[in-house]
Amino acid sequence: MPVSIAVLAVICAGWLVGGQPATADPVRVDPGPEIAAGKVIVGSGQNLPSMESSNPWDIGSYPAQSVIAYQNGGVQLDQAEVAAAAVSWTRAWLRRACGGVKPETVRRCRAIAVFDVDDTLLSSYPVGLANNPQFGYDPAASDAAVMTCATPVIKASREVYRIFRSWGMATAVITGRPESQRTATVSCLAENGMSTWESVQLRPASDTGSAATYKKSARDLLIDQGWSIGPSIGDQVSDMSYGSLGRGFLMPNIRYFLP
Ligand SMILES: [Mg+2]
Repeated sequence: MPVSIAVLAVICAGWLVGGQPATADPVRVDPGPEIAAGKVIVGSGQNLPSMESSNPWDIGSYPAQSVIAYQNGGVQLDQAEVAAAAVSWTRAWLRRACGGVKPETVRRCRAIAVFDVDDTLLSSYPVGLANNPQFGYDPAASDAAVMTCATPVIKASREVYRIFRSWGMATAVITGRPESQRTATVSCLAENGMSTWESVQLRPASDTGSAATYKKSARDLLIDQGWSIGPSIGDQVSDMSYGSLGRGFLMPNIRYFLP
């Protein structure tokens, strides 16, 4: 994806890391052996601060025009590329693990795909755009957008969902949204054409660890229930860290990082 890498190189040239201007050249996603836990992560050319960082990070308003340009240009190409990789890999995985992609075969095999919600299936970009400063994190604005479903669908991910369902594959949501947003989340997904989920896990208020460890234990719960997890699709490395999945697919998100 040479176009998007070029765009990101422009963005990275001026972005902030921990409040300081970044000087390093952009690099491809490399989550490191511990986080990847032996699993491959397929991602776009996005560059973020250290994938092993334990600090949340957002891009803030400094390069707002570059963020807007990427959103209106390269992001769809990157989303489509990661989505195509997820479909291709999962088809091969189902043939290998379940003996085919016919619905009765896949259902018998208890194959499941995991999806994150925010900036994977539904976009928080309009919230960031409207914030002051732009692309900083405003919890109240984010919550309001969740409750009113003011989060447009990310079409490439919805297409992946639809293809998986057509193969008879089960689908699960694992989101960092709190339990209090369950009804709003499920109805917003349905409103956007994604109404069937075998499992929807939201983050309990008592869970105060990292997103990565919460999501890993949520995947382990699916495995304990007898599901066989193929792809995990998210916009954060923490959607696919520490294993308990077949392969991670990292949708582009240049606006923030959640450990
Ligand atoms: Mg997300």
